[in-house]
Amino acid sequence: MSYNAWFQCINGCPGQFSLLEIMYRCPSCGDLLEVRHDMAALKTRAAAAWIKLFDDRYRQNLYPYGSGVWAKKEWVVPFIDNENIVSTFEGNTNLFWAERYGKQLHLEDLWVKQCGNSHTGSFKDLGMTVLVSVVKQMMADGMPIDAVACASTGDTSAALAAYGAAAGIPTVVFLPRNKVSPAQLVQPLANGALVLSLDTDFDGCMAAVQQVTKHKHIYLANSMNSLRIEGQKTIAIEIVQQCDWEVPDWVVLPGGNLGNVSALGKGFLMMHELGLISKLPRICVAQAENANPFYRAFLTNFERFEPITAKETLASAIQIGNPVSIRKAIATLQRFEGVVEQASESELAEETARADRTGMFNCPHTGVALAALRKLVERKVIRSHERVVVISTANGLKFADQKIAYHAGTLAGVKPGHQNRPLELSADPKQIAAAISHYVERMRLLDSVNG
Ligand SMILES: *Cc1c(COP(=O)(O)O)cnc(C)c1O
Ligand SMILES: [Zn+2]
Repeated sequence: MSYNAWFQCINGCPGQFSLLEIMYRCPSCGDLLEVRHDMAALKTRAAAAWIKLFDDRYRQNLYPYGSGVWAKKEWVVPFIDNENIVSTFEGNTNLFWAERYGKQLHLEDLWVKQCGNSHTGSFKDLGMTVLVSVVKQMMADGMPIDAVACASTGDTSAALAAYGAAAGIPTVVFLPRNKVSPAQLVQPLANGALVLSLDTDFDGCMAAVQQVTKHKHIYLANSMNSLRIEGQKTIAIEIVQQCDWEVPDWVVLPGGNLGNVSALGKGFLMMHELGLISKLPRICVAQAENANPFYRAFLTNFERFEPITAKETLASAIQIGNPVSIRKAIATLQRFEGVVEQASESELAEETARADRTGMFNCPHTGVALAALRKLVERKVIRSHERVVVISTANGLKFADQKIAYHAGTLAGVKPGHQNRPLELSADPKQIAAAISHYVERMRLLDSVNG
């Protein structure tokens, strides 16, 4: 069976365009494109057969199908040559059972999808393997491409630089100066990318990279490029697969440029249309109060959307005032009975620390999602028996500097409620023993408070 996919305008303008063509926007109306699949061809395989195929490939060694993304190749980019696929075995990340943290929130069935346990430490790997593979295919087909480029709040550039380096494709990244963590900055440096540290914010970097990529020999890798969405949508499929093909009641995720929530929706809708699932979850997008244009639009029932200038937030990857995927995201929320919540700086820092105490090591964006979850549970929008999956978007190790500052009590504007500092002692066994009993007692007390 041959499957096919192509670009098409999200507003339904006429025209289908090859995925191997360099285009990011609809030539008629200028809005975003999306990847459409030949659903009739995909429907010739029964839902049960797709499930069997995906389960057979799950974490297997046969390249590239052991990747969580390429395990679903027929649903992603069906026609690409396997030899042009640039994969780091991304995806298939753990669905962590947040048992202790769930109990604290009075949730019985809480799971955290650990998308940060990936090659470059964020879910951006899922989209970038698709985009860079398509570029490699284009170059193999003789298309003159000199480099790939993106603007980034840190994680997109890390992913692009790694996949670009793995494929041997020159990579240019546009970063807002002093607005990404040291770990995020060093990733593209280590991978040999050209790192442009610009005196502007993310939205300014985005404008700059769009200028440069007007020349077709520099290929744009931002999520405006809907190839990335195809990779990221596999998060939805994996979540359902890891729940033994049951659909959770809720998915909660942080949103900035709003590509990921659009991708999530696309994954669920595709499974629904192909009969793998028979219901849809509700979706909550969580934003930092300091960068909340989507939250504001939600308050108007999506009747109005105004870009804002995003203020500084610890959740730096979602410090975005003018999200490129706004239209797709609104459509997704309307379809999934979605809600938008927000979290202040101290709420997100506290929630990150609270959840870390139960065995996770969360990035601040996941902290935003968890703080939003707490609010929805408190308002009884989410009920205690419902199955909830929170998408953790990056590895906390990328934000070690923030965590160190939190525990040292030096994080501006945050009074740490879960501070934990190293205890400096002599090597005297008596002092050490006393410190241990004190600690054990304190933990017991905390346990009786938290349940
Ligand atoms: C990119 C990113 C987000 C936001 O995803 P969008 O698709 O821009 O909404 C959230 N968290 C992390 C860690 C990210 O890197
Ligand atoms: Zn159009």
